[in-house]
Amino acid sequence: MGSCNGCEVEIGQAFGPVYDADRYGARLVASPRHADVLLVTGVVTHNMADALARTVEATPEPRVVIAIGDCAIDGGLLAGGFGVRGTVGDVTHVDLAVPGCPPEPDAIVAALRQVTGR
Ligand code: SF4
Repeated sequence: MGSCNGCEVEIGQAFGPVYDADRYGARLVASPRHADVLLVTGVVTHNMADALARTVEATPEPRVVIAIGDCAIDGGLLAGGFGVRGTVGDVTHVDLAVPGCPPEPDAIVAALRQVTGR
């Protein structure tokens, strides 16, 4: 939502050929309407707060929200910034959190495996 893109790079690695989250049943989809799980990165900025709420609403239930990275969990480096509304948990429910700045792909895959059960 207000990420520096570091967390996205690690999410990309989690789905790459080395860490390969797909083999545990996790698959990237193009729309929240096709998703079971949302990976949310970064602080929630004022501009993106409504978009996050709408994205969560567009995801069918039962849905799981995973906050990826310190910014998403507690504001991290960007806590208190003028453009910051808050953490992901300030805007929506959070089921799982993966700490780190950024978290390592292994940790992201481990969180996904908690959801897929594989
Ligand atoms: S947790 Fe670190 S890597 Fe992730 S968005 Fe925040 S500053 Fe960037």
